[in-house]
Amino acid sequence: MASLYAGPVQDVIDELGRLPGIGPKSAQRIAFYLLRVSTQEASRLARSITELKERISFCRVCFNIAEGERCTLCLDERRDATVLCVVEEPPDIVAIERTGEFRGRYHVLQGAISPIEGIGPDQLRVKELLTRIEPEGIEEIILCTNPNIEGEATAMYLGRLLGPLGVRVTRIASGLPVGGDLEYADELTLGRALEGRRRVDD
Ligand SMILES: [Zn+2]
Repeated sequence: MASLYAGPVQDVIDELGRLPGIGPKSAQRIAFYLLRVSTQEASRLARSITELKERISFCRVCFNIAEGERCTLCLDERRDATVLCVVEEPPDIVAIERTGEFRGRYHVLQGAISPIEGIGPDQLRVKELLTRIEPEGIEEIILCTNPNIEGEATAMYLGRLLGPLGVRVTRIASGLPVGGDLEYADELTLGRALEGRRRVDD
């Protein structure tokens, strides 16, 4: 489609349209909204994005978001280094932390196995997970991927991969809404699912 708007307007529409969950109509609506707001308000948005990119990156150890090389959870010496919770994305960590049921460390895969989207183990932080087990003295790995097809496939894959390595591999209990996202589960349900975790090789 040929561009119908002056350069800068079309640029913003194009950029917004690249964001997840934002279609061309929404992109256009947001662009025109931004045209109407004060320069100050629009600058605040632009600045917050710039600052996000300048100050925040991914933790070198667990791939959670971090200000610096390591995230606050990896830097916290009081946390139990022998138990590792494997999640898909950083918001899952926030959900698990809210339950207050977990005092170990995390590993963020940055996605889940999805043949449809062409995402295999190589696109995830699986290699990095394997290299943590021995040096960190990890004894248990809890697979906390989402209770949907991709999450289950990922947990099954990791279960098979990690099983022979001498670590205890567990999966959070069912009871979470099937097909849902971990990050939207309520604290109580997620807390129970963590508590009721089972060994995957049982
Ligand atoms: Zn970390």
